[in-house]
Amino acid sequence: MSCQNCDGERVINASGRCEDSFTASIDNNEYEGSVPKDLGIGGGEFIEFEYCLDCGQIQGDFPLGKTKLERSSDDDDEEEEEDDEL
Ligand SMILES: [Zn+2]
Repeated sequence: MSCQNCDGERVINASGRCEDSFTASIDNNEYEGSVPKDLGIGGGEFIEFEYCLDCGQIQGDFPLGKTKLERSSDDDDEEEEEDDEL
């Protein structure tokens, strides 16, 4: 497989099982739990993604749509509810 950005051949597949110990933050939003599927780096118990050792490009379909982590900026509830107020 060659890199979608630079056509280099040094694309590595990385994965790890983190169960519900995954954390992520963006702006002031912090998340801890299972891996959200909308971040493009796996989902559920596993982080999994491929990236290029030459240019650093993560392989996948980007840009991604707005994630739940970004949407939950105004509420402190741990459980995100799906009502879109935007
Ligand atoms: Zn590359």
